[in-house]
Amino acid sequence: MTLVFPSMHNMAGRRINREKKTIAAMFSIYCRGKHEEQELCDDCRELLAYSEERLDKCPFQDKKNSCTKCLIHCYSQPMRDRVREVMRYSGPKMMAKHPYLAIMHLIDGKREPACKK
Ligand SMILES: [Zn+2]
Repeated sequence: MTLVFPSMHNMAGRRINREKKTIAAMFSIYCRGKHEEQELCDDCRELLAYSEERLDKCPFQDKKNSCTKCLIHCYSQPMRDRVREVMRYSGPKMMAKHPYLAIMHLIDGKREPACKK
């Protein structure tokens, strides 16, 4: 296992880029386990692309909290339900497969909820 600590410069987008890695890893675990695909199936790929788009448009960016607190505001209801299923399935498996991303995700969840207004 290799731990990669990003350098301190270029802070902008760092948080969102890590979030994208985390969510891609979760989709990979989910699709392999549930759909028995080596690569992401079309459904999972579509949902992942949607999630990445939400991250790109997330108004909080580097101040973003964990997804569970943000989903309510920016995902459409059906997409939110589908992503939640992926998280529920992959979440407990992340610590074993991607400990760095899993730990960072836990730390992000401890932040004060970002508030736009
Ligand atoms: Zn799939």
